[in-house]
Amino acid sequence: MPKIAVIPGDGIGPEVMREALRVLDVIAQKNSISLEFEELPLGAAHYLETGEVLSDETIERLEEKDAVLLGALGDPRVKPGVLEKGILLRLRFHFDQFVNLRPVLLYDGIPSALAGDMRDISMRFVRENTEDFYVGLGGRVSQGASRSELVLKRKAYEAKFDIGIDLTGDEELAYQIGVITRQGARRVLDYAFTLAKAKGIGLVTSVDKANVLTEMYGLWREEVADASTRHGIASEFQYVDAVALHMIKNPKRFKLLVTPNLFGDILTDLGAALQGGLGFAPSGNINPEGVSMFEPVHGSAPDIAGLGLANPVGAILSSALMLDTLGHGKAAAWIESAVQEVLRGGEHKTPDIGGTTSTSQMGDAIVETLNQTSP
Ligand code: ATP
Repeated sequence: MPKIAVIPGDGIGPEVMREALRVLDVIAQKNSISLEFEELPLGAAHYLETGEVLSDETIERLEEKDAVLLGALGDPRVKPGVLEKGILLRLRFHFDQFVNLRPVLLYDGIPSALAGDMRDISMRFVRENTEDFYVGLGGRVSQGASRSELVLKRKAYEAKFDIGIDLTGDEELAYQIGVITRQGARRVLDYAFTLAKAKGIGLVTSVDKANVLTEMYGLWREEVADASTRHGIASEFQYVDAVALHMIKNPKRFKLLVTPNLFGDILTDLGAALQGGLGFAPSGNINPEGVSMFEPVHGSAPDIAGLGLANPVGAILSSALMLDTLGHGKAAAWIESAVQEVLRGGEHKTPDIGGTTSTSQMGDAIVETLNQTSP
């Protein structure tokens, strides 16, 4: 029986989570999947009351789970970063969730910049979640010891490059280093190609900027070619700028995109905009052999918290993504088609897309549709 930790969190987190849990209840009843939930009170209120962001004991409890379902974290009363870094990032690193999975689908009835048959998109982004420019290697230097160290390192490269930056002067500079390891690239690529096979996708698009950032993305490309051969699935290389362009001009051409961390971060938000906005976008932080965490892409949205205005679809689709990852693909597809049917009907629209349907009314409509259909 899958054991799920539920962290409703802050702002609109508890509101959208309530609807996701109602949907999971119906699924559990009608599809005979047993799910065991444990709710954990992490977030701003808990932190302000107890001083605890995330204790080792809580991490140990999470280690026993199959997955974590998260609402949102962040609160105006808490310094930005305390909860996001202390909980989200800590969990992501502790459980080595090296894949960020972001499906981008646009259902009928949702307004989008895409029109006509361009709307017929179905992209899956597999974003590397631990390396690239997010490894935290960098610094600021003006003069003194750290500067001379940098000058020394720089000298080693000077034979190859001349970028015209004066490293010997006193002017302050900042630098940030990206890192891609062979093992880091290989594991996320293995995940992407395995997913492509499972979903019947015959072409994996690799995103990079290997024409400029030749070292990092050169290594990335070697691993893409290798994974493509090993998994027997075709791949193509695309520069990130071209992908951004095609996501608007010809988004149907992409089915599964695998990206290093930074480009994935940017492109998936473009994807969220195409699929109708933050309220519709689900995500998973995945370790295929460990504890994965599923959450809507939006944050705590304090501006609308407690007002019943939040769109719960992103949270509901995140719970479907969780079921799919746990091996219950049929149940996941059933939730997706119920969401699709409700949105297509056009009667239920949350305020983020110009309607008046409340968070719980949207949940009601999806639950009702599930009750009237079968998987
Ligand atoms: P945080 O600091 O937690 O990231 P934020 O307000 O900066 O919060 P988001 O929560 O991502 O960032 O919200 C950005 C905007 O999108 C807000 O105006 C918010 O009201 C809106 N929004 C986000 N999620 C939803 C949702 N599920 N339904 C409706 N509107 C939403």
